[in-house]
Amino acid sequence: MDNSRKALIIEDEENIAELLQMFLEKDGYTVRTAADGRAGLEQVKSFEPDIILLDSMLPKLDGVQVLKRLREEDDVTPVIMLTAKSETYDKVFALEAGADDYITKPFAPKEVMARVHAVSRRTERAAEEMREEKILEFDKLLVNLDAYVLLADGKKVDAPPKELELLYHLAKSPNRVFTRNQLLDEVWGFDYFGDSRTVDVHIKRLREKLEGTSEQWALKTVWGVGYKFETETVRANN
Ligand code: CA
Repeated sequence: MDNSRKALIIEDEENIAELLQMFLEKDGYTVRTAADGRAGLEQVKSFEPDIILLDSMLPKLDGVQVLKRLREEDDVTPVIMLTAKSETYDKVFALEAGADDYITKPFAPKEVMARVHAVSRRTERAAEEMREEKILEFDKLLVNLDAYVLLADGKKVDAPPKELELLYHLAKSPNRVFTRNQLLDEVWGFDYFGDSRTVDVHIKRLREKLEGTSEQWALKTVWGVGYKFETETVRANN
């Protein structure tokens, strides 16, 4: 399987396309080029690039039109527009049409690569956050906030949603102390009209349910402050 990232350059000026291709390939990208807007759109479908460098002045379909068609199809592939210095309106159109960034010609290839990296990092981080599962695991404890399942020593524990959310919130930042008010705000929400005793009651119930499951973690009271999920072995969240 080819794991390298793919870049598509849609640019009718051959020397610019070649220069960009050279820099992207040096950076490990697999590169394809298209010399007009229509060919570019076809390449997007067949090549499925991870990033697109799109010239604004193109034959057949110009850059902004290409971008609009792309976004109409709900394509989330990041696009960096290449615009000429005089075409200030292009930048506005580009961003309005859904470009992630733009670069003014003439440009230094290094600048282009810096933008490519920045845009890629942003989109990868966004994808990562989407993928992130809300599952925490500690010794003999599993908190799954996607399925609202709590397992202690492999057995399912009945716990209402708020208890699960509270446990998840605490365990997601092990050993961090939360005040009751923080927990009320962050778990119950700002519009909740309960008092801090609500937190105490939920902690008490969780403790009863989880008592004796493991020596490696505990719901600890920090006197005068609040609560924490204490553990010696801090595992990374996924
Ligand atoms: Ca052009």
